[in-house]
Amino acid sequence: MFLLGALLCAVISCGEKTVEKPDICAHRGFWHCEAAQDAENSIASLRLAQENGLWGSEMDIHLSADGVVVVNHDHIFHGLVIAEHSYEELAAAGKLKNGESLPTFEEYAAQGKLSPCVLVVELKPQPTREGADKLLDNTVRILKEAEIFDPSRAMFISFDLELCKRIGAEYPQFTNQYLGGRLSPSELKEIGINGLDYHFSEFRAHPEWVEEAHSIGMSANVWTVDNPEDMAWLIGLGVDSITTNEPLLLRSVIKENNVTKNTN
Ligand code: MG
Repeated sequence: MFLLGALLCAVISCGEKTVEKPDICAHRGFWHCEAAQDAENSIASLRLAQENGLWGSEMDIHLSADGVVVVNHDHIFHGLVIAEHSYEELAAAGKLKNGESLPTFEEYAAQGKLSPCVLVVELKPQPTREGADKLLDNTVRILKEAEIFDPSRAMFISFDLELCKRIGAEYPQFTNQYLGGRLSPSELKEIGINGLDYHFSEFRAHPEWVEEAHSIGMSANVWTVDNPEDMAWLIGLGVDSITTNEPLLLRSVIKENNVTKNTN
């Protein structure tokens, strides 16, 4: 059954052009390259994901004390707790590795608008429920203002289960994936969440979750996969998307997989 899934997954064609499957998602943008100067979650890393024709680019967002949605992995930026400082204070504290100022999500959305590369928006857990709700509200507003509040242009992921439930209730048209693991696709569906995006160890323990997700109309993505053996295994399992720090390596593993399947 998994082999059938792999064949279907690897050889989906669109006219003359073979579509890259599974989808390649750059983890924190395509940052691990000379052009991005290793600056994760930078505008440059998003632009490089776009320029390399990747399916999607993931980024992490937080809410500053004055309500600005900022793009950064940790809840601390250059020693300052993001939720406790204004954007101005945060931006004055330091730069990214490539010299960029701390990106706002508004800047990210403006860059995102330029390409079909999907914005995979990770809403980071916030210190309060009020903060988490405001993070979502402001993010939705920004996507609307940029005219990319569209399920084909953006999707949501989060470790905050309550926020995933809220997205499921209010924006059911969007792909909305829980990141935390432990819950089966059926358990997620029961609480109104339409996808899962789990660490690959979860799929080692529960490889059946990919097929289970697909059988009930849900998507199954996986993070963060940088090893070619793990990539090949997950391609075979039939996941929809793989999030990686090494998108060009993943592209080559997908191509090898296609060649193998086509010549069998
Ligand atoms: Mg992330």
